[in-house]
Amino acid sequence: MADKLPDKLGIALVGLGTYASEQLAPALEETKHCYLAGVVTGSPDKAKKWKTKYNIPDKSSYTYEDFDEVSKNPDISIIYVVLPNSMHREFVVRAARAGKHVICEKPMALTVADCDEMIDACKKADRKLSIGYRLHFEPHNMEMIRLGKEKSFGKIKRMQADNGLTGVKGWRLDKELAGGGPLMDVGIYCVQGIRYTTGLEPVAVRANEGEKKDTKKFKEVEESLTWEMEMPDGIVAQCKTSYSEEMNLLRAEAEKGWFEISPAYEYEGIKGRTSNGKMDFPEINQQARQMDDFALAIIENRPTPVPGEMGRQDVKILNAIYEAMRTGNRIPL
Ligand code: NAD
Repeated sequence: MADKLPDKLGIALVGLGTYASEQLAPALEETKHCYLAGVVTGSPDKAKKWKTKYNIPDKSSYTYEDFDEVSKNPDISIIYVVLPNSMHREFVVRAARAGKHVICEKPMALTVADCDEMIDACKKADRKLSIGYRLHFEPHNMEMIRLGKEKSFGKIKRMQADNGLTGVKGWRLDKELAGGGPLMDVGIYCVQGIRYTTGLEPVAVRANEGEKKDTKKFKEVEESLTWEMEMPDGIVAQCKTSYSEEMNLLRAEAEKGWFEISPAYEYEGIKGRTSNGKMDFPEINQQARQMDDFALAIIENRPTPVPGEMGRQDVKILNAIYEAMRTGNRIPL
């Protein structure tokens, strides 16, 4: 890179909704290698509030329309896209074309073709792309990865991953904006958990849509879904997701014991145990670690551990699960 990088990189958040306001902005007050430098929003009211609260200069506040002007702003090195799922593609591509590194929230996009376009745009612009996979920086989830990798309890035989929540409203129930229901939103964490604990990729999937109890609310998307991922070495992973049931588990059963975390995917309060006893790790700010790691990846010019390609693989698996749900068939990957 021609220009010398500052020690602390400026991040601009695109979309100032719940996740940006309640998790990312507070986390950016704890980061060491990046800080909140700009905002992109459709709401003049929000722009005003954020500028005052976080001391953001007028020149670093953009609308969705004039966002491309960010190319001329040297204070902003990273664009973090925190919009409804179907909007990720457009804003990641525009951010890359503006010459910025990008973090994109999960799910990366609705289709593999969109993911390819996003990856290509970042490659062409020689910018890094990462997905907001905060759990790769969370100690209990990292322990699951370690136990799986080191085969501490022998080879994994079976896995279970459940993630569900209630009280969802707005764009998450709109197929065009969300791409699907709980599978796109929270079931993706199960797919991730199985992939990072086993270190393996699914060979095929089968799925069953749950019964819709609220047909009006869930007119466009599934209310719940169970699916199975066939992994190599005969490992079977059973998963559940729902918008009408609270669930939060990642569990591995191995030859000589078991290990699990529950809750597994929350922002805080993650707890773990194994057949040998407790799994005890300190509470950390996941989003702060995730954003700091990306800033360091840029500063040190090394790959991010949660790249666009990882997001693309999840989108491919999610789409296969939907195909399995629709057809009733086993869908090979
Ligand atoms: P939200 O509804 O609270 O915020 C979405 C923002 O997008 C709002 O500010 C809204 O004004 C803006 N927006 C722009 N155009 C819109 C449109 N056409 N329709 C609706 N909103 C529009 O949503 P959120 O919970 O902040 O989620 C945003 C993204 O972040 C999603 O992709 C979601 O999956 C992801 N997310 C990730 C995590 C995580 O733990 N990594 C947690 C929550 C959300």
